[in-house]
Amino acid sequence: MSFAEAERSEVERPEYTAERVMTKRKDQGRGSPADKNAGAERSAAPFVPGTTSISALRAAAPGCRGCDLYKTATQVVFGAGPVKARVIMVGEQPGDQEDRQGVPFVGPAGAMLDKALEDAGIPRSEVYLTNAVKHFKWEPRGKRRIHKKPRISEIKACRPWLEAELRAVKLQILVCLGATAAQSVMGSQFKLMQNRGKLLALPPDSKESALPVEQVVTTIHPSAVLRAPDTEGRRAAYESLVADLRVVAKAIRG
Ligand code: SF4
Repeated sequence: MSFAEAERSEVERPEYTAERVMTKRKDQGRGSPADKNAGAERSAAPFVPGTTSISALRAAAPGCRGCDLYKTATQVVFGAGPVKARVIMVGEQPGDQEDRQGVPFVGPAGAMLDKALEDAGIPRSEVYLTNAVKHFKWEPRGKRRIHKKPRISEIKACRPWLEAELRAVKLQILVCLGATAAQSVMGSQFKLMQNRGKLLALPPDSKESALPVEQVVTTIHPSAVLRAPDTEGRRAAYESLVADLRVVAKAIRG
């Protein structure tokens, strides 16, 4: 896919109406399975099985009630990719298309990421893709569902799933796509634009340092390319994304 084709996929995506989702919410019997941790600080932890089997984790994820985002999403969107991936890429949360299909990075941002991976020389077959938050958070705008940034409490609540994925996938390098993913992994004070495109270690003496990760690279989320105001801005953002991913490509080649 060319850059122009990846860029156009943002415009060509079909709409997914808010009404359709609200109908589905009624069918889900929202709130019916008891919140195992209602009243306490919300967390996915009680719903995450103690296993390093990705298939077992994936099977358990639809039952998560670790925060309220499951109530308005269509379905959970768990990570996807080979268990022996050399690279895990973490985004913020599923988008509209991902929510519909139940697969991460299949929408316009995913098309842009695929193109950037190809240009950076990272085989897609070596990448496991997931998100810091596993349910789509959105707000209605007319008939469309518009992405809404998850709260810090929601990112923290969902973190046990990411930790379980990191334990299950034998990764070599973790790539955080966007500020939300970067702060989820590197801590809330992490400055993405000052540190992007560098091989980093987890911050020492922090709860993040307990993650089974040795090397981290942070970069922009591919949706940031699509949000740039004009073609020139999109091309500059895209080239900066590819440059950061080349750091990853070089690291996995040793
Ligand atoms: S967003 Fe995460 S913590 Fe919240 S319900 Fe979904 S899987 Fe559970």
